[in-house]
Amino acid sequence: MNEMTPMADYVFAPEPTPTIPVAGSNKLFPVRRIYCVGRNFADHAIEMGHDPDKEPPFFFQKNPDSILPPGKDFPYPPETNDVHHEIELVVALKSGGTDIPLDKALDCVFGYGVGLDMTRRDLQGQAKKMGRPWETGKSFEASAPCSAIHPVSEVGHPAQGAIRLAVNGRTRQEGDLNQMIWKVPEMIAHLSRLFALRPGDVIFAGTPAGVGAVVRGDVMTGHVEGVDDITVTVV
Ligand code: MN
Repeated sequence: MNEMTPMADYVFAPEPTPTIPVAGSNKLFPVRRIYCVGRNFADHAIEMGHDPDKEPPFFFQKNPDSILPPGKDFPYPPETNDVHHEIELVVALKSGGTDIPLDKALDCVFGYGVGLDMTRRDLQGQAKKMGRPWETGKSFEASAPCSAIHPVSEVGHPAQGAIRLAVNGRTRQEGDLNQMIWKVPEMIAHLSRLFALRPGDVIFAGTPAGVGAVVRGDVMTGHVEGVDDITVTVV
């Protein structure tokens, strides 16, 4: 072993860092944390039985290794009969901090992708009813399919444009990024008051109305205008 490359004395080899490919290069975006915004589109809040005027959006998390890289199939998860798609803009951070001011928030963004916040709706529903945490509904294996990340230098900071999802060619979800209750800078500023944001953190920015179930064999095709498409088969 070389003195210049000391190896930590782990009791076993650490798991590899989860990554998302960066579009147009061979580089990888290393994922540190996954934050998700709940009820960030009024029409989705209403379809889930909530009043967006009384309840502002909020955050939950998935595990970093929940990322399903582009091109991979989504394995239908265990212990559920009601797995839902949620098409979302994904915000990938290159820097972070705490108490980030609104006018500095976009400086933290490396790029954007298109993601699916896959949800075991039946387990989430039980958890809500019993006042329990959401992890079993939200943070399971492969629950965060994501397209390649597109750097800001390529796509800018998309604030409007179509966001939609089709299953087997039939449109299920349709909205516009300009309908997001919390805009991207507000999400980052809010989050940075609750958590210390770091490079590699990603934010799933919430979903428009039309969420619904998928079954094995379904092909989900998502699109965020000006960012990318995502195609994921349920197996
Ligand atoms: Mn969601």
